[in-house]
Amino acid sequence: MQCNNAMEPNEILVLLKTPPAERPALFARANKVRKENMGDEVFLRGIIEFSNICANKCAYCGIRAPNTKVRRYRMSDDEILEVAKRMPEWGQTTIVLQSGEANSVEENKRIGKIVARIKKETSLAVTLSCGNRTKDVYAYWRGCGMDRYLLRFETSDPELFSKLHPDCTLEERLQCLRSLRDVGAQVGSGFMIGVPGETLEILARNIQICCEFDLDMIGIGPFIPHPDTPLAGTLNAYHDDTDMYFVAVAVLRIVNPDAHIPATTAFDAVFPGHEGRNLVLQRGANVFMPNNTPKAYRGDYLLYPDKPCVDEDTGDCSLCILGRLNLLGREVGTGPGHTRKKR
Ligand code: SAH
Repeated sequence: MQCNNAMEPNEILVLLKTPPAERPALFARANKVRKENMGDEVFLRGIIEFSNICANKCAYCGIRAPNTKVRRYRMSDDEILEVAKRMPEWGQTTIVLQSGEANSVEENKRIGKIVARIKKETSLAVTLSCGNRTKDVYAYWRGCGMDRYLLRFETSDPELFSKLHPDCTLEERLQCLRSLRDVGAQVGSGFMIGVPGETLEILARNIQICCEFDLDMIGIGPFIPHPDTPLAGTLNAYHDDTDMYFVAVAVLRIVNPDAHIPATTAFDAVFPGHEGRNLVLQRGANVFMPNNTPKAYRGDYLLYPDKPCVDEDTGDCSLCILGRLNLLGREVGTGPGHTRKKR
Protein backbone atom coordinates (compact mmCIF):
# COMPACT_ATOMS: atom_id res chain seq x y z
CA MET A 1 0.00 0.00 0.00
CA GLN A 2 1.32 3.40 -0.95
CA CYS A 3 1.67 6.31 1.39
CA ASN A 4 -1.78 7.73 1.91
CA ASN A 5 -1.06 10.89 -0.08
CA ALA A 6 -4.71 11.43 -0.76
CA MET A 7 -5.16 12.71 2.77
CA GLU A 8 -5.48 16.48 2.99
CA PRO A 9 -3.97 18.42 5.91
CA ASN A 10 -7.45 19.27 7.18
CA GLU A 11 -8.39 15.58 7.15
CA ILE A 12 -5.34 14.88 9.29
CA LEU A 13 -6.44 17.72 11.55
CA VAL A 14 -9.89 16.19 11.91
CA LEU A 15 -8.31 12.89 12.99
CA LEU A 16 -6.07 14.71 15.48
CA LYS A 17 -9.17 16.37 16.96
CA THR A 18 -10.84 13.02 17.65
CA PRO A 19 -12.76 13.58 20.91
CA PRO A 20 -11.52 11.55 23.91
CA ALA A 21 -14.53 9.22 23.86
CA GLU A 22 -13.72 8.20 20.28
CA ARG A 23 -9.98 7.75 20.76
CA PRO A 24 -10.16 4.03 21.61
CA ALA A 25 -11.67 3.49 18.14
CA LEU A 26 -8.91 5.59 16.56
CA PHE A 27 -6.25 3.53 18.37
CA ALA A 28 -7.93 0.29 17.23
CA ARG A 29 -7.98 1.55 13.64
CA ALA A 30 -4.26 2.40 13.78
CA ASN A 31 -3.48 -1.01 15.24
CA LYS A 32 -5.43 -2.65 12.42
CA VAL A 33 -3.60 -0.61 9.75
CA ARG A 34 -0.30 -1.63 11.38
CA LYS A 35 -1.29 -5.31 11.42
CA GLU A 36 -2.52 -5.33 7.82
CA ASN A 37 0.53 -3.57 6.42
CA MET A 38 3.40 -4.56 8.69
CA GLY A 39 2.19 -7.77 10.34
CA ASP A 40 2.73 -8.78 13.96
CA GLU A 41 6.52 -8.78 13.78
CA VAL A 42 8.35 -6.19 15.85
CA PHE A 43 11.80 -5.42 14.53
CA LEU A 44 14.51 -4.91 17.13
CA ARG A 45 17.02 -2.24 16.28
CA GLY A 46 19.66 -2.01 18.97
CA ILE A 47 20.92 1.47 19.57
CA ILE A 48 24.41 2.38 20.74
CA GLU A 49 24.78 6.00 21.80
CA PHE A 50 28.45 5.95 20.93
CA SER A 51 29.34 9.60 21.59
CA ASN A 52 27.75 12.60 23.29
CA ILE A 53 30.25 15.09 21.87
CA CYS A 54 28.21 17.79 20.15
CA ALA A 55 28.85 21.17 18.56
CA ASN A 56 25.20 22.23 18.35
CA LYS A 57 22.96 24.30 20.56
CA CYS A 58 19.54 22.70 20.02
CA ALA A 59 17.32 24.41 22.60
CA TYR A 60 15.69 21.20 23.89
CA CYS A 61 18.57 18.76 24.04
CA GLY A 62 20.39 17.77 27.23
CA ILE A 63 23.72 17.10 25.46
CA ARG A 64 23.78 20.47 23.64
CA ALA A 65 27.29 21.94 23.46
CA PRO A 66 26.77 24.71 26.05
CA ASN A 67 25.71 22.23 28.76
CA THR A 68 28.95 22.06 30.73
CA LYS A 69 27.43 19.69 33.30
CA VAL A 70 27.70 16.82 30.82
CA ARG A 71 30.74 14.53 31.03
CA ARG A 72 31.66 14.02 27.38
CA TYR A 73 32.59 10.57 26.05
CA ARG A 74 33.24 8.71 22.85
CA MET A 75 33.33 4.91 22.73
CA SER A 76 36.30 3.27 21.00
CA ASP A 77 35.79 1.26 17.83
CA ASP A 78 36.55 -1.96 19.71
CA GLU A 79 33.98 -1.14 22.40
CA ILE A 80 31.35 -0.61 19.68
CA LEU A 81 32.30 -3.82 17.86
CA GLU A 82 32.17 -5.82 21.06
CA VAL A 83 28.50 -4.88 21.54
CA ALA A 84 27.67 -5.25 17.84
CA LYS A 85 28.91 -8.83 17.74
CA ARG A 86 26.55 -9.86 20.54
CA MET A 87 23.45 -8.29 19.00
CA PRO A 88 22.36 -11.14 16.71
CA GLU A 89 22.08 -13.50 19.69
CA TRP A 90 19.61 -11.01 21.22
CA GLY A 91 17.39 -11.15 18.12
CA GLN A 92 18.61 -7.78 16.85
CA THR A 93 19.25 -7.48 13.11
CA THR A 94 19.99 -3.76 12.88
CA ILE A 95 22.51 -1.64 14.74
CA VAL A 96 21.74 2.06 15.18
CA LEU A 97 24.77 4.21 15.91
CA GLN A 98 23.70 7.55 17.35
CA SER A 99 25.75 10.51 18.54
CA GLY A 100 25.84 14.22 19.03
CA GLU A 101 26.75 16.30 16.01
CA ALA A 102 30.55 16.37 15.71
CA ASN A 103 31.17 17.23 12.09
CA SER A 104 34.90 17.04 11.34
CA VAL A 105 36.83 15.31 8.56
CA GLU A 106 38.46 13.10 11.16
CA GLU A 107 35.22 12.10 12.90
CA ASN A 108 33.43 11.47 9.60
CA LYS A 109 36.24 9.10 8.54
CA ARG A 110 36.12 7.32 11.86
CA ILE A 111 32.38 6.77 11.50
CA GLY A 112 32.90 5.43 7.97
CA LYS A 113 35.54 3.00 9.19
CA ILE A 114 33.37 1.67 12.00
CA VAL A 115 30.48 1.15 9.56
CA ALA A 116 32.78 -0.83 7.23
CA ARG A 117 34.06 -2.93 10.12
CA ILE A 118 30.55 -3.76 11.34
CA LYS A 119 29.48 -4.75 7.81
CA LYS A 120 32.56 -6.96 7.47
CA GLU A 121 32.48 -8.59 10.89
CA THR A 122 28.71 -9.01 11.49
CA SER A 123 25.48 -9.67 9.58
CA LEU A 124 23.84 -6.47 10.88
CA ALA A 125 22.10 -3.78 8.88
CA VAL A 126 23.64 -0.44 9.83
CA THR A 127 21.73 2.75 10.62
CA LEU A 128 23.53 5.98 11.45
CA SER A 129 22.03 8.93 13.34
CA CYS A 130 24.72 11.59 13.65
CA GLY A 131 23.08 14.78 12.40
CA ASN A 132 23.43 17.08 9.37
CA ARG A 133 26.17 16.42 6.83
CA THR A 134 26.89 17.22 3.19
CA LYS A 135 25.75 14.84 0.47
CA ASP A 136 29.40 13.86 -0.08
CA VAL A 137 29.75 12.63 3.50
CA TYR A 138 26.48 10.69 3.29
CA ALA A 139 27.69 9.17 -0.01
CA TYR A 140 30.98 8.19 1.61
CA TRP A 141 29.16 6.49 4.52
CA ARG A 142 26.82 4.77 2.09
CA GLY A 143 29.89 3.46 0.25
CA CYS A 144 31.20 2.12 3.56
CA GLY A 145 28.02 0.05 3.87
CA MET A 146 25.55 2.30 5.72
CA ASP A 147 22.03 1.01 4.99
CA ARG A 148 19.87 3.67 6.65
CA TYR A 149 19.96 7.07 8.33
CA LEU A 150 17.83 8.66 11.03
CA LEU A 151 17.51 12.44 11.11
CA ARG A 152 14.36 13.96 12.54
CA PHE A 153 13.12 17.24 11.08
CA GLU A 154 11.76 17.92 14.62
CA THR A 155 9.05 20.39 13.52
CA SER A 156 7.62 21.41 10.16
CA ASP A 157 7.19 25.05 11.14
CA PRO A 158 10.19 27.03 9.80
CA GLU A 159 10.04 29.74 12.48
CA LEU A 160 9.68 27.30 15.33
CA PHE A 161 12.47 25.22 13.83
CA SER A 162 14.79 28.23 13.77
CA LYS A 163 13.98 29.11 17.37
CA LEU A 164 14.89 25.57 18.44
CA HIS A 165 17.97 25.22 16.23
CA PRO A 166 20.40 28.16 16.15
CA ASP A 167 22.73 26.02 14.00
CA CYS A 168 20.56 25.28 10.97
CA THR A 169 17.33 25.98 9.09
CA LEU A 170 14.43 23.66 8.38
CA GLU A 171 15.25 23.83 4.69
CA GLU A 172 18.83 22.66 5.35
CA ARG A 173 17.52 19.77 7.43
CA LEU A 174 15.06 18.74 4.73
CA GLN A 175 17.85 19.00 2.15
CA CYS A 176 19.83 16.46 4.20
CA LEU A 177 16.88 14.06 3.89
CA ARG A 178 16.84 14.54 0.09
CA SER A 179 20.62 13.96 -0.06
CA LEU A 180 20.23 10.74 1.92
CA ARG A 181 17.59 9.55 -0.52
CA ASP A 182 19.85 10.49 -3.46
CA VAL A 183 22.77 8.42 -2.15
CA GLY A 184 20.50 5.39 -1.84
CA ALA A 185 20.08 5.19 1.93
CA GLN A 186 16.77 4.22 3.52
CA VAL A 187 15.56 7.42 5.14
CA GLY A 188 14.18 7.78 8.64
CA SER A 189 12.96 11.03 10.10
CA GLY A 190 10.27 12.29 12.43
CA PHE A 191 9.54 14.94 15.00
CA MET A 192 8.97 15.73 18.64
CA ILE A 193 5.35 15.88 19.76
CA GLY A 194 4.35 19.06 21.58
CA VAL A 195 7.38 21.35 21.54
CA PRO A 196 6.31 24.66 23.12
CA GLY A 197 4.64 26.73 20.42
CA GLU A 198 3.33 23.73 18.49
CA THR A 199 -0.28 23.94 17.36
CA LEU A 200 -2.48 21.12 16.10
CA GLU A 201 -2.05 22.62 12.62
CA ILE A 202 1.74 22.25 12.93
CA LEU A 203 1.32 18.68 14.20
CA ALA A 204 -0.89 17.87 11.20
CA ARG A 205 1.72 19.33 8.86
CA ASN A 206 4.47 17.30 10.64
CA ILE A 207 2.54 14.13 9.85
CA GLN A 208 1.89 15.21 6.29
CA ILE A 209 5.58 15.94 5.65
CA CYS A 210 6.43 12.36 6.68
CA CYS A 211 4.05 11.24 3.96
CA GLU A 212 5.37 13.69 1.35
CA PHE A 213 8.94 12.49 1.92
CA ASP A 214 7.69 8.91 1.67
CA LEU A 215 9.83 8.12 4.71
CA ASP A 216 10.97 4.55 5.23
CA MET A 217 11.01 5.01 9.00
CA ILE A 218 9.27 7.58 11.19
CA GLY A 219 10.21 8.12 14.81
CA ILE A 220 8.15 10.51 16.94
CA GLY A 221 8.13 11.05 20.69
CA PRO A 222 6.88 13.57 23.23
CA PHE A 223 9.00 16.64 23.94
CA ILE A 224 10.27 16.49 27.53
CA PRO A 225 11.76 19.68 29.03
CA HIS A 226 15.35 19.24 30.22
CA PRO A 227 16.38 21.35 33.25
CA ASP A 228 19.78 22.34 31.82
CA THR A 229 18.49 23.75 28.54
CA PRO A 230 16.83 27.02 27.50
CA LEU A 231 13.49 25.16 27.50
CA ALA A 232 13.79 24.31 31.22
CA GLY A 233 10.49 24.92 32.97
CA THR A 234 8.42 25.01 29.81
CA LEU A 235 5.52 22.62 29.31
CA ASN A 236 4.73 20.19 26.53
CA ALA A 237 1.96 21.68 24.39
CA TYR A 238 -0.25 18.69 25.37
CA HIS A 239 0.79 18.43 29.03
CA ASP A 240 -2.84 18.53 30.16
CA ASP A 241 -3.91 15.87 27.64
CA THR A 242 -1.02 13.44 27.34
CA ASP A 243 -3.17 10.95 25.42
CA MET A 244 -2.46 13.30 22.48
CA TYR A 245 0.99 11.69 22.24
CA PHE A 246 -0.71 8.41 21.33
CA VAL A 247 -3.23 10.15 19.08
CA ALA A 248 -0.24 11.55 17.15
CA VAL A 249 1.23 8.06 16.64
CA ALA A 250 -2.12 6.56 15.68
CA VAL A 251 -2.78 9.24 13.06
CA LEU A 252 0.82 8.94 11.84
CA ARG A 253 0.23 5.23 11.24
CA ILE A 254 -3.10 5.79 9.46
CA VAL A 255 -1.48 8.34 7.14
CA ASN A 256 1.71 6.27 6.66
CA PRO A 257 0.49 2.67 6.48
CA ASP A 258 3.70 0.99 5.33
CA ALA A 259 6.43 2.97 7.11
CA HIS A 260 8.42 1.47 9.97
CA ILE A 261 7.32 3.28 13.14
CA PRO A 262 9.24 2.69 16.39
CA ALA A 263 7.84 2.86 19.90
CA THR A 264 10.29 5.52 21.02
CA THR A 265 12.03 5.68 24.38
CA ALA A 266 10.61 9.09 25.30
CA PHE A 267 7.18 7.44 25.75
CA ASP A 268 8.59 5.42 28.64
CA ALA A 269 9.96 8.58 30.23
CA VAL A 270 6.42 10.04 30.30
CA PHE A 271 4.61 6.80 31.14
CA PRO A 272 7.01 4.81 33.32
CA GLY A 273 7.08 1.08 33.96
CA HIS A 274 7.36 0.49 30.20
CA GLU A 275 3.67 1.36 29.88
CA GLY A 276 4.33 4.05 27.27
CA ARG A 277 6.16 1.94 24.75
CA ASN A 278 3.86 -1.05 25.30
CA LEU A 279 0.86 1.13 24.48
CA VAL A 280 2.52 2.63 21.39
CA LEU A 281 3.17 -0.87 20.06
CA GLN A 282 -0.60 -1.43 20.30
CA ARG A 283 -1.47 1.91 18.68
CA GLY A 284 0.53 1.84 15.47
CA ALA A 285 4.21 1.08 16.12
CA ASN A 286 6.04 -1.99 14.77
CA VAL A 287 9.66 -1.35 15.78
CA PHE A 288 11.46 -1.31 19.11
CA MET A 289 14.93 0.09 19.77
CA PRO A 290 16.56 -1.59 22.77
CA ASN A 291 19.26 0.52 24.35
CA ASN A 292 22.61 -1.26 23.96
CA THR A 293 24.78 1.54 25.30
CA PRO A 294 27.13 0.21 28.02
CA LYS A 295 26.09 1.22 31.51
CA ALA A 296 29.24 3.30 32.00
CA TYR A 297 27.97 5.82 29.42
CA ARG A 298 24.17 5.74 29.72
CA GLY A 299 23.97 8.43 32.37
CA ASP A 300 25.90 10.79 30.11
CA TYR A 301 23.46 10.55 27.19
CA LEU A 302 20.45 12.19 28.80
CA LEU A 303 18.75 14.07 25.98
CA TYR A 304 15.82 14.52 28.37
CA PRO A 305 15.24 13.67 32.04
CA ASP A 306 13.68 10.42 33.34
CA LYS A 307 15.14 8.36 30.52
CA PRO A 308 14.34 4.75 31.36
CA CYS A 309 16.83 1.91 31.93
CA VAL A 310 19.75 4.22 32.77
CA ASP A 311 20.83 1.83 35.54
CA GLU A 312 20.82 -1.18 33.24
CA ASP A 313 23.59 -2.55 31.09
CA THR A 314 24.14 -3.69 27.50
CA GLY A 315 21.90 -6.68 26.81
CA ASP A 316 19.40 -6.03 29.64
CA CYS A 317 16.96 -4.10 27.43
CA SER A 318 17.12 -6.82 24.79
CA LEU A 319 16.02 -9.49 27.27
CA CYS A 320 13.33 -7.26 28.76
CA ILE A 321 11.74 -6.57 25.37
CA LEU A 322 11.51 -10.27 24.51
CA GLY A 323 9.30 -10.80 27.58
CA ARG A 324 7.23 -7.72 26.79
CA LEU A 325 6.56 -8.77 23.20
CA ASN A 326 5.47 -12.18 24.38
CA LEU A 327 2.90 -10.61 26.70
CA LEU A 328 1.63 -8.39 23.87
CA GLY A 329 1.23 -11.41 21.58
CA ARG A 330 3.78 -10.08 19.10
CA GLU A 331 6.77 -11.76 17.46
CA VAL A 332 10.37 -10.72 17.06
CA GLY A 333 11.00 -9.63 13.48
CA THR A 334 13.32 -11.84 11.52
CA GLY A 335 15.49 -10.71 8.63
CA PRO A 336 17.11 -7.30 8.29
CA GLY A 337 13.89 -5.32 8.62
CA HIS A 338 14.54 -3.17 5.59
CA THR A 339 11.97 -0.74 4.19
CA ARG A 340 8.64 -2.08 2.98
CA LYS A 341 8.39 0.60 0.33
CA LYS A 342 8.51 -0.49 -3.29
CA ARG A 343 10.28 2.15 -5.30
N1 SAH B 1 22.54 14.46 16.96
C1 SAH B 1 21.64 13.57 16.27
C2 SAH B 1 20.89 12.68 17.25
C3 SAH B 1 19.85 13.44 18.02
S1 SAH B 1 19.21 12.66 19.46
C4 SAH B 1 20.69 14.39 15.43
O1 SAH B 1 20.67 15.61 15.58
O2 SAH B 1 19.99 13.82 14.62
C5 SAH B 1 17.74 11.93 18.84
C6 SAH B 1 16.45 12.68 19.03
O3 SAH B 1 16.18 12.90 20.40
C7 SAH B 1 16.37 14.04 18.43
O4 SAH B 1 16.17 14.00 17.05
C8 SAH B 1 15.20 14.67 19.19
O5 SAH B 1 13.99 14.54 18.46
C9 SAH B 1 15.13 13.83 20.47
N2 SAH B 1 15.26 14.70 21.66
C10 SAH B 1 16.30 15.45 22.03
N3 SAH B 1 16.01 16.18 23.12
C11 SAH B 1 14.74 15.86 23.47
C12 SAH B 1 13.86 16.27 24.52
N4 SAH B 1 14.22 17.18 25.43
N5 SAH B 1 12.63 15.72 24.57
C13 SAH B 1 12.24 14.80 23.67
N6 SAH B 1 13.02 14.39 22.65
C14 SAH B 1 14.26 14.90 22.55
